[in-house]
Amino acid sequence: MNNEQIKSITIVGGGSSGWMTALYLNKLYNHGNAEVDISLIESPNIPTIGVGEATVHSIRYFFAAMGLDEKELLKATNATLKTGILFKNWMKPNADGEMHQYFHSFEQQNIGNIVDISSAWLLNKGFEKQGYDHAVSLSTYLIKDNLSPKAATSMPYDGVVPYGYHLDAIKMANFMREKGVAAGVKHIKATVTDVDVDGENIIAVHTDEGVFAADLFIDCTGFKGLLINKVKNKADNWQSYADALPCNKAVAIQVKYPKEQAPKSYTQATALTNGWVWEIDLVNRRGTGYVYDGNRLTKEQAEAELRAHLGEDEEILRTVHLDMHIGCLKEFWVGNCVAIGLSGGFIEPLESTGLHLINASVRLLGTHLTSKNPAQVVKDSYNKMMNGTYEDLKQFIVLHYCLTDRDDTQFWRDVKNTAQYCSGLEEKLANWQHKVCEYMDLSGSYQTMFSDANYRAILYGMNYYPQLNLPVNKALNEQVFTQFNQRVDQVTNMVMSHESYLKNLNS
Ligand code: FAD
Repeated sequence: MNNEQIKSITIVGGGSSGWMTALYLNKLYNHGNAEVDISLIESPNIPTIGVGEATVHSIRYFFAAMGLDEKELLKATNATLKTGILFKNWMKPNADGEMHQYFHSFEQQNIGNIVDISSAWLLNKGFEKQGYDHAVSLSTYLIKDNLSPKAATSMPYDGVVPYGYHLDAIKMANFMREKGVAAGVKHIKATVTDVDVDGENIIAVHTDEGVFAADLFIDCTGFKGLLINKVKNKADNWQSYADALPCNKAVAIQVKYPKEQAPKSYTQATALTNGWVWEIDLVNRRGTGYVYDGNRLTKEQAEAELRAHLGEDEEILRTVHLDMHIGCLKEFWVGNCVAIGLSGGFIEPLESTGLHLINASVRLLGTHLTSKNPAQVVKDSYNKMMNGTYEDLKQFIVLHYCLTDRDDTQFWRDVKNTAQYCSGLEEKLANWQHKVCEYMDLSGSYQTMFSDANYRAILYGMNYYPQLNLPVNKALNEQVFTQFNQRVDQVTNMVMSHESYLKNLNS
């Protein structure tokens, strides 16, 4: 077994994946002495994808672990805080003709020691009175009054409820580049023109600034997968998720704020005719984008539908059309090359999992990269875990589509049938018609982000709940909701408005 210590790592690509990987590996290996030579090659002529502006809440732990100052990060990226996603129009309108909506927050309150709050809501037939989000999640009350998830006394990276961010993707890569370079990562501004390969190993990359060799190469070149596709033919190595997730294109439009509007502390995801629109508020502008099925809409039709959704008054700053490759590699680690970020795969942007996947990938690499050339069994383990992670996220995203009752377009009629493309999901859904969705239903999978609480938010938010016929302890149930309401009062009185938080931050 080759147990030699790794001496050099070259990352190609300077988007979020490249710089998050560089920062993490540098933190892991180089404390005081530069034990491992970490270089990042980034083309000055090929732009980053420039989208990826909403995060899940656990990204805070990544930034905190990298020693980044939260306030500095937020200011540098024009960031706002995010407590969850408001889904609109994913079901038919209700009986009064109102648009269906539900909030998927990052938290569900953990109250009730015999029957938990979620089951208490079901047993009380809460669905006849109010949405699930209003019964279990404090964040639902924060967004109602546009309150911040942080109190004046909250520590960095901590709040009264979990929160993530909305941030400017280009500014974030710039910020991390600055921090990476300051921490000792070598930054090489050059374009890779050729890759020397020997079997499954990369010997060196050729650039317009010279030739660079390394023990390990990390491919962060985005959808093109410049390095990984050289060591393994993409046709053999790619698994498409197109059957399960048909949205394969996006048109992104950045707009100016109407003056009277304050940035929202949540992402909005509104379903349209053939996909959905994100609305992400930064301090200085709003990012929007229509994620759609390109087999059903042309670019022009998609852009027109998005513009109509935004309204004529919106002042447009920038419009970009993007292709999305939905799926992932079978082998993310081949020979001495590892694909991280879009080069490894992408689940569509619903639920904002792109940066989370980079975080998960690089942390797993940290536990698997035990020597200069780990045994194949170690690479197999990494590939298996990465595949499990992607499959798990795919299933969670499919859940948002397959539960719809919309039938107004062929797109919505077809996406109802997508559960069949996720192993075991149809069986779980059948089960969840009769019993609550609980942790054990999902254990044994590769949950890295979304657990049973998140599944219940989508299931119950989309009116998919079990019909329980059980004796109800009304007094005990009431206690649960009394305690919940007390917490709502407590928390909403502790925090300032999201707008004030941002004004203080940026003053
Ligand atoms: P890129 O940003 O494409 O970077 C590629 C890098 O490779 C660039 O620096 C480029 O210069 C370099 N490069 C390319 N070729 C060469 C070469 N020959 N030589 C040298 N360098 C080269 N994620 C989220 O977490 N939240 C979201 O809300 C979200 N929304 C998204 C919406 C859409 C429509 C899409 C498509 C993605 C979204 N994502 C989101 C995913 C997110 O954008 C990516 O995960 C993230 O930006 C990482 O991209 P990357 O670094 O892998 O690739």
